[in-house]
Amino acid sequence: MTLFELKDKFVKGEVSAVEIVKAYFQRIMLVESKIKAYITTAKRDALVKEANELDYTLSKWRKTTPLMAMPIAVKDNICTEGVKTTCGSRMLENFVPPYDATVVARMKEYGYYLIGKTNMDEFAMGSSTENSAFGPTRNPWNLAYIPGGSSGGSAAAVAAELCVAALGSDTGGSIRQPAACCGVVGLKPTYGRVSRYGLVAFASSLDQIGPVTKDVRDAAVMMQMIAGHDPLEEVELAVRTAIIQMQALKAEIKEISLPMTKYAIATYYLIATAEASSNLARYDGVKYGYRAAKEKGLLEMYMKTRQEGFGAEVKRRIMLGTYALSAGYYDAYYGKAQAVRTLIKRDFDEAFKAVDVIVTPTMPTPAFKLGEKIQDPLQMYLSDIYTISVNLAGVPAISLPCGLSNGKLPIGLQIIGRPFEEEKVLRAAYAYEQATEWHLKKPGL
Ligand code: GLN
Repeated sequence: MTLFELKDKFVKGEVSAVEIVKAYFQRIMLVESKIKAYITTAKRDALVKEANELDYTLSKWRKTTPLMAMPIAVKDNICTEGVKTTCGSRMLENFVPPYDATVVARMKEYGYYLIGKTNMDEFAMGSSTENSAFGPTRNPWNLAYIPGGSSGGSAAAVAAELCVAALGSDTGGSIRQPAACCGVVGLKPTYGRVSRYGLVAFASSLDQIGPVTKDVRDAAVMMQMIAGHDPLEEVELAVRTAIIQMQALKAEIKEISLPMTKYAIATYYLIATAEASSNLARYDGVKYGYRAAKEKGLLEMYMKTRQEGFGAEVKRRIMLGTYALSAGYYDAYYGKAQAVRTLIKRDFDEAFKAVDVIVTPTMPTPAFKLGEKIQDPLQMYLSDIYTISVNLAGVPAISLPCGLSNGKLPIGLQIIGRPFEEEKVLRAAYAYEQATEWHLKKPGL
């Protein structure tokens, strides 16, 4: 049965949740050992119990949701709370995500059953599912053949009736290519149509989650379930609301573009680390500051002092900066970054011909948790996307409160001005502040 057909029968009460769950587990018992579509399958007893309870509730109060009791498989690079998500890699062999991907959260809300996590090429890199650390998946049409990849497990699971529909991810064909190999339907959506939150990144500007289904109608049904604006971007909402309020205060709103912003983080982390490596050279244990104890020679004293006196991030920056400035690399890194810095500055010059001040979020997210990004410097650097280009361009900017997140954390609004126009920046900020209440909110300490 297709998803559409099964849903229909379930809604009409012609088939119960328990019957559905048992039928799929029976199928898994029968053929999964030949196909190996799954890295993890759901626990049968637990799911039967859940289905039992659901059937009981429905017998009292018949109210269904769009994916209620539908056994759907999810590719193992899409985060599922409490269920292992390996990406087909030893690297994440024991990774149990503490949260659901947005697509999974949506399907949960619609009542789906996670029947299993499907096999895939490691980190979605491949076209045959042979690159999985957990062994290959086989093509249900002929076990001697590949199912395609990297979403080979999802396509094989749908083709072999080991689930009623599945999710895959497609960076360069990884939904469509295995769908083709296994005789099922696979849709790669428009970039941005489906949230990537909770999809383990392979190539972020290309990755998309999409459905793998038995027929075209099912692909449309699944798209309706997973597509749409991701409300996790609450910063955007707060900032857009602030802009509307400014309009009400008689500000004239014009959309502008700062196209070089995409290079800002790379440029900043070259220039800032280069300058830091040179500035921090003075902390050598001689002139002032910490000095390592009882050392043999001068060189060893320098080395020990710096090794013991600096923390990990500062060391990382000194090393990056020293590298960027070193002979043979200077032109490629530091010199190039300075050239791009000029282009970033020109973006602002251009924009300020049309507007007096520029309004942006200050940060892409509210504050993150302690420990959340400390192990991942690149993630940490990305939180600077809205602020860094302002420094590179040398212009003034202010941040002021413009909202609170669902988690009751402040959201900041950035107002950027022309060089030496702090007064205008302050006036715009003050007008907004006086018209709103965000600055009056206090933490509930
Ligand atoms: N086969 C391509 C690769 O190996 C695309 C994979 C994908 O879409 N994830 O990169």
